[in-house]
Amino acid sequence: MQKINIKDGPKIEDYKAYGSLFNLVNEFLETTKQSVADLKGCTIWMINSTATGGGVAEMLPSQIRIMRSLGVKIEWMVIEASDELFFTLTKRIHNAIHGSGDGIFTDEDRAIFEQVNAQNAERAVAAISDGDLVVIHDPQPMPLAAMIAKKRNVKLVWRCHIGLEEQNETTQGVWSFLSSYFDSYDHFVFSLTTYVPEELKEKTAIITPAIDPLSHKNRTLHTDKCISILLQAGIVNGREPLLFGFYDHQARRVMPDGTFNTVNHNSKLDLIYRPTVTEISRWDRLKGFKELMNAFIMMKRENEAAGDRSSIPYKRIKAARLVLGGPDPAYVADDPEGEEVLNELIEQYRSIDPELQEDIAILLLPLDNPKENALIVNALQRFSNIIVQNSIQEGFGLTATEAMWKQRPVLVSGAAGLRFQVQHNINGKINEDPTDISSLANILKTMINSPKERDKWGFNGQIRVIGNFTLFNQISSWLSVLSKIR
Ligand code: UDP
Repeated sequence: MQKINIKDGPKIEDYKAYGSLFNLVNEFLETTKQSVADLKGCTIWMINSTATGGGVAEMLPSQIRIMRSLGVKIEWMVIEASDELFFTLTKRIHNAIHGSGDGIFTDEDRAIFEQVNAQNAERAVAAISDGDLVVIHDPQPMPLAAMIAKKRNVKLVWRCHIGLEEQNETTQGVWSFLSSYFDSYDHFVFSLTTYVPEELKEKTAIITPAIDPLSHKNRTLHTDKCISILLQAGIVNGREPLLFGFYDHQARRVMPDGTFNTVNHNSKLDLIYRPTVTEISRWDRLKGFKELMNAFIMMKRENEAAGDRSSIPYKRIKAARLVLGGPDPAYVADDPEGEEVLNELIEQYRSIDPELQEDIAILLLPLDNPKENALIVNALQRFSNIIVQNSIQEGFGLTATEAMWKQRPVLVSGAAGLRFQVQHNINGKINEDPTDISSLANILKTMINSPKERDKWGFNGQIRVIGNFTLFNQISSWLSVLSKIR
């Protein structure tokens, strides 16, 4: 078990200095006063399985920083595990909650699950005092609750960041495996009502994920800064960056023959001059990359076959480019599934006409430096006219939240978390079925050719995020839940 230090970062006043956040922050300070007072004297412990990578690790530092500035005592600990079998098991648990796999978990699985947690329990207990509040995130550290409860008189909360709306044999299997740990918890937190297992409904609060508007992934970037980041990362080329040097590791692009090379090696991506449609996600089949590439190709082909060549709509579609961005496998130690999905996409890409290959960029983003990765994602999102999240299934879909915050119109599937965030024809469009290629192609075409609508949707998207999905909305929900169960 390792305690994580929180670095300095933006303060309440920094958020308040933004006109669009001013009222939100003031209201937040007002409404959280009572809960903060109710939590005096106890420490909140956040426990998860990683300090880097993934939504939980991304959100915790800024949440903790803000809570501390309100006077709340809060700490973060991460479980340590060296047993490969543990991670294989917890990945299977994760997938099963999403409905995939066989949902069969054995006594040996349980032994590994509990053994790794038992190795972490002693240090957790040593740090925690009677009267504290412990929040355990996701399945990996779930068995810790009972081990802590044996030695300390504390309230325990399980925060589950994943879920599936429908139940099937697999989800039933995994929930039945995990249910033996439910009794150790006083309360539960899920992201959406529809993810909550029936037996937990009475004891569950809903807190949606959220973005930090001033993090490197979301902070405002002026055009020169944005272009500089793209230059530093090798996505734009042709000159030296003025203020800072090139990043140690550059973005790479899949070449027509399936190899990887610098982004503009074979043909210019031309990102900053063209209408650009972008999806950035992990290489996961459920993110719907393949379907999006097919829809983009269909749109292009139909345009060539039937478009009026002298018209602006024809020219817009002709000029449009698709960016599919995700982690460079060189920096992801343990994701064989991700590499498999990337390879499938590469195979698909190799089979298309050379002219279309120029219009589609599969970008591999370096992950060695989290700040640089965040800035690259930020700059790519800001240079996109449309951000797509074509997920077949989606826990929540922070990429849509990030895009809306940046006033970028979104095109999302009807997957639960996305449907919950995006309002059709208000902040973008929902294409209910991500596998319906012709409907997706049509919506893409309409969006590319509706510049004024896009501006309006983008603008509305930011308002939607400010009202519902920022750090402040999230912290105030947490404080309210925790102060009630104390
Ligand atoms: N992301 C990133 N670099 C990448 C791909 C994804 O930083 O190469 C980020 C993305 O910006 C978002 C997060 O990973 O913040 C993905 O969160 P989301 O909720 O969309 O999906 P999840 O990966 O949790 O299923």
